[in-house]
This record gives sequence, structure tokens and C-alpha cells, in this order.
Amino acid sequence: MARTQVALTFDDGPSYVTDCVLDVLEEVGVKATFFVIGERVADHERQLRRMAACGFQIGNHTWNHKFISKMSSDELRQTLLQTNDAICGACGVTPTIMRPPGGAWSDEALAVLGEMGLPAVFWSVDPRDWETQDARSTIEHVLSHVEDGSIVIMHDRYEPTADAVEAIVPELVSRGIELLTIEELAKERGGLQPGGRHYWF
Ligand SMILES: [Zn+2]
Repeated sequence: MARTQVALTFDDGPSYVTDCVLDVLEEVGVKATFFVIGERVADHERQLRRMAACGFQIGNHTWNHKFISKMSSDELRQTLLQTNDAICGACGVTPTIMRPPGGAWSDEALAVLGEMGLPAVFWSVDPRDWETQDARSTIEHVLSHVEDGSIVIMHDRYEPTADAVEAIVPELVSRGIELLTIEELAKERGGLQPGGRHYWF
């Protein structure tokens, strides 16, 4: 039987919490994906270099977290290019996936993503860690909802999230679940479609 595979994703960073999350992932030896906000890059280049050096996937989460459904096509192109440039400048990796802030999208925005070759990666497991800022509820939600092909959204901005990750990652591994990047999970599960919406694989 094929192994159960899940992708953990972390949005809205980098921040001072990012290193704590990376420490856990590296110690256990699993992969994850970080959807980075462009305007946060300049102050956190070291964390980005660390992600890139260790094989974590880095995605584009727009320049300043404005909803892509509220932007003109030109503004959207601009925010995505500016963010990819900043990330590439910091760590040498150009993101090939993006996550729409707030999960908001429009047909017009997806058309721009399609032009730019960027798939939109959403999620299927959401512990709302940014709202509860409670490690225990984040742990319980994730551990009771993950299944094969799940994409889990969390935020490397809050200490309770880092505490939750410290419990979640070893537990998933002990259940025999493989933790992969979005790219790795998508492979052999239909792949990623530029301008397409992906909620799980
Ligand atoms: Zn976000």
C-alpha cells in the first residue's frame, strides 16, 4: 500500500518564529512549504537562505497580503513579480507556486496566474492557528483532520504555532505519514496546473 503523504504549509512569514519551526522540521528530517510575504523578505533573508539550503519549498504569498480578488490584473502581476524577485534576491530560488491571501480568488486573477505559470495552492486542513493562538487546539485540529493528500495551513508568525508544530510533526511521523513539500506531494498525484486551484492532492 502506498504511504500516506501530507504537505504542511506555513504562511505570512518569515518572522522570528520561523527558525523554531525550521528547527523542528530539520530535527525530524521532514519537508514543508513556506508561503512568504514579499515585504517581509528584506528583514529575514537569513531564514530564507536557511529554507532554500535545506530543501524546503518557498512559495509566493503576494507583497503585502492584499487579496488577489481585489487587485487589477496589472497590480497582481506587479505584486507577484516583486515578491518573486525579492525572494530570489535573498536566497536564489524563484517561487513556482503561490497562495492567495485569505483564500480569495477570482477568474480574472486565476487568468493572470495562468499567464505567469503559477498554480494557486489552497488548503484542506485549517486549524485557524492565527485566530486561536492556542497550541492545543491547533494540535488537536491537525491531528484529527489530516488524511492522505491533505494540505495543512499554519502560520510561522505565532509562538503557539511553533509549539504546536513541535508536537504535530513527530506525531505524524510516528503514524507513518510522510511530510513533503507541495511540489513533492503533487508529483504522481496529477501535478500542479498554472492558474489552477489546488486544495489537496
Ligand atoms: Zn496569509
